[in-house]
Amino acid sequence: MSASGVHLFDRVSGVNVLLDEVRVPAELFSRAPRYLSVALTNACELGCVYCYAPKHAAALDRERVLAWAVELDAAGCLGVGFGGGEPTAYRRFAGLCSDVARSTSMAVTLTTHGHRFTPDLVDSLRGVVHFVRLSVDGVGATYERLRGRPFASVARAAGLLSTLAPFGINAVVNADTVGELDALAEFADRVGACELLLLPEQPTAATPGISDADAQRLLQWVATARTKVRLAISRTGLEAALPTAPIPGELPLDAHMHLDAGGVLRPHAYASAGVPVSGSIMEAVRMLREA
Ligand code: SF4
Repeated sequence: MSASGVHLFDRVSGVNVLLDEVRVPAELFSRAPRYLSVALTNACELGCVYCYAPKHAAALDRERVLAWAVELDAAGCLGVGFGGGEPTAYRRFAGLCSDVARSTSMAVTLTTHGHRFTPDLVDSLRGVVHFVRLSVDGVGATYERLRGRPFASVARAAGLLSTLAPFGINAVVNADTVGELDALAEFADRVGACELLLLPEQPTAATPGISDADAQRLLQWVATARTKVRLAISRTGLEAALPTAPIPGELPLDAHMHLDAGGVLRPHAYASAGVPVSGSIMEAVRMLREA
């Protein structure tokens, strides 16, 4: 519940309903972020230059993650998204997803490069993961150059994931991939993805982020694209190219938060500052909102 009204969500179907005619008293507003992304580990065997995950070794304690999930659920959070690094490199990852799904009513989602998926891993996640995001930056030779893995392998991973849960394709958009958006949308449709999420490249120590010209190309493509797959686009990185006024239906900035593998809660994954979570995660949420 929030100033926008009453938000109903079903984690199995993914259906969201906002009852915006309901006036909710301020004391009943949900205190939790609607969605928390959680970097379980910094470990990942790929070496994408635009990766924002810190390169020092760090991983969250499993029991603390579960306790925080229960606390967030009670405070009105709708979903947790496991990422990293690569979340499937986290020890006993399937068991953690199962425990969170059974102990809370939240959606359990994950973002993965896909290359560790096997039929056994898919079986162990079935019923306890509600949505998967598969990272595919470019197609064919572009993907292989950027990710250093065969494109056929990620296409195989998409086939496996299609038997697990609804899934989407995440694509970092930069000078290498902005010309391949038609091919990416065609790939997403062909493998049965229900969404193509476009992520303008963010600056890291190794890359300057998407250029203004490529950001304009991206927006132009979105405005004219005729795709069968649903499109979603991150505002982060497009600030110069988008209107500053809120877009109708856009989530408030604090609807999402990010917990890094060192246990620091941040407004988003690229934020330089945050609040260490020492005990209660909702206490850290409160401190981050007041910071
Ligand atoms: S696959 Fe993801 S976590 Fe791994 S290096 Fe690439 S961007 Fe980073």
